Amino acid sequence: MESGPKPQSGLPLREATGLIRGRHQHHHPAAAATARHRRRQETVMEFLEKLSDKLSERTLKDFEIIRGMKMKLNPQNSGLMPWDPPYYSGVIRAERYNIEPSLYCPFFSLGACMEGLNILFNKLLGIALYAEQPAKGEVWCEDVRKLAVVHESEGLLGYIYCDFFQRADKPHQDCHFTIRGGRLKEDGDYQLPVVVLMLNLPHSSRNLPTLLTPGMMENLFHEMGHAMHSMLGRTRYQHVTGTRCPTDFAEVPSILMEYFANDYRVVNQFARHYQTGQVGKLICNTVL
Ligand SMILES: [Zn+2]
Repeated sequence: MESGPKPQSGLPLREATGLIRGRHQHHHPAAAATARHRRRQETVMEFLEKLSDKLSERTLKDFEIIRGMKMKLNPQNSGLMPWDPPYYSGVIRAERYNIEPSLYCPFFSLGACMEGLNILFNKLLGIALYAEQPAKGEVWCEDVRKLAVVHESEGLLGYIYCDFFQRADKPHQDCHFTIRGGRLKEDGDYQLPVVVLMLNLPHSSRNLPTLLTPGMMENLFHEMGHAMHSMLGRTRYQHVTGTRCPTDFAEVPSILMEYFANDYRVVNQFARHYQTGQVGKLICNTVL
């Protein structure tokens, strides 16, 4: 974004559209709003065009590398197909960085990952997560854990039900959903949000805790980003609270959490071998 706007891109187009539609009376509120909207659209288009200009060279290079790998592994059929890039970039990444997800699982026990989230939320937001015993009949499966989300000065912010483990009739999809949105009640009290985080993690066994692959850990962080969004919203009405916002924006906190999940400075704080307690430092420096 360091270069200036492209010459002639914004204004003439805007004027042209204005002329065609005969909308030069910008003092009219609706027309002014339309013009503002158009300006926003143009800014977005300018940004996307600039991004695509800057990325095209790197993308071509990446495609060359991917094509080379396909040529090596599949010389009879080496043309690149639309479904090839995800597979071959995985192969290249594994070869270059020696990544084998199962090697890292022992460092990401569910307990260690939850501790990681606790550390992160504590530092970023002054928030701590506390396990609470659900009342009889409160949860739909005995695997479900209840977390109270407590802010250092605001107190209790809401509850997260963690439905983390696989079971036969459960949809195979990681997601976050709202049971009760936050809202300001008529008496001035705040109705606390209650949400569910649903994952499909393997159960622990007698000698093995639940171990997450780096991808599962990233998903956990992603979904927890949604949960925190819901916890932190203090809207007056519940239909616009937390993740009940434009879909693109709803993903922002979660994408941010993915960055944390992929930053070795964060991961180093909690990745521990479940048997030896060894810190995952070296590993994380290579993987992440
Ligand atoms: Zn999401």
